[in-house]
Amino acid sequence: MDLFSNIAPEEKGKKSTIGQTDIQYIQSASILTEAKGFMGAYDYTLNPYSGCSFGCNYCYAAFFSRSSDEKDNWGHWLKVKENALQLLIKFRKKPLLNKTIYISSVTDPYQPIEKNLQLTRSLLKELANYHKPRLVIQTRSPLVTRDIDLFKKFEVVQVNMTVTTDSEAVRKAFEPYCPSNKLRLKAIQEITDAGIQSCITMTPLLPIENALLFTDELLHTGVKKFIVQPFHPDKGKFIASTREVAIEQMRQMNWNDLKYNQVVQIFREKLPWLGEGKQGFAPI
Ligand code: SF4
Repeated sequence: MDLFSNIAPEEKGKKSTIGQTDIQYIQSASILTEAKGFMGAYDYTLNPYSGCSFGCNYCYAAFFSRSSDEKDNWGHWLKVKENALQLLIKFRKKPLLNKTIYISSVTDPYQPIEKNLQLTRSLLKELANYHKPRLVIQTRSPLVTRDIDLFKKFEVVQVNMTVTTDSEAVRKAFEPYCPSNKLRLKAIQEITDAGIQSCITMTPLLPIENALLFTDELLHTGVKKFIVQPFHPDKGKFIASTREVAIEQMRQMNWNDLKYNQVVQIFREKLPWLGEGKQGFAPI
């Protein structure tokens, strides 16, 4: 029996290109990683893919690339862990009941290719049917709404949608390959309307055009929980070439700590629950 039938046999182990991204199918050694560092409060992180087609130019995950070539080409490569489901099935012997799992820490689980592959979906099915962990799903893709039926099977689950700015111009400057802000807000509204616990993560918060209007847009989604975190280009683990691009863009947009703090103060006053930094990401 082929446990992951959405990957055609002829694709396995091969390479292909979709858009700006080179796709490689790999056999991974493991699928659950004991959480540490920023995500240390969780039991495990789970990354169905490595690399990321979204290629945000500030992305800290690029630091964890295996080679300088991969760091330099962050956003242009993606590895599909084609044996991810088989690896997760091995945990049936010792189910992950009530374990806290964060999907995903160094990629987005809803890559464009996920629409056809359904790799993340296969893992969610396995977790829902055999494990029932306490789950947080982090994404910036509207594709997440596809899996509402599965989220409903978990007793404890939260969908986090990343929305970093109210400006499409800013979004395109830092996240040119990502879905639009509008689509992300619509998707998290749909998740919320379906009765799934939801959260909007403004991490990092990029330059904001109109904080009051943005706050209204955020509230309009029905989401009750929000997390904000500053952009830390000087402290973060950035690749050199990317860091310079991101820092320069911040400079050109005249964004600074003072402006960040002014926007966050409005969030504190208007939003029902605002977590800041690591504390905001604590397991549910
Ligand atoms: S979507 Fe997330 S993992 Fe992917 S490049 Fe952007 S910040 Fe990095």
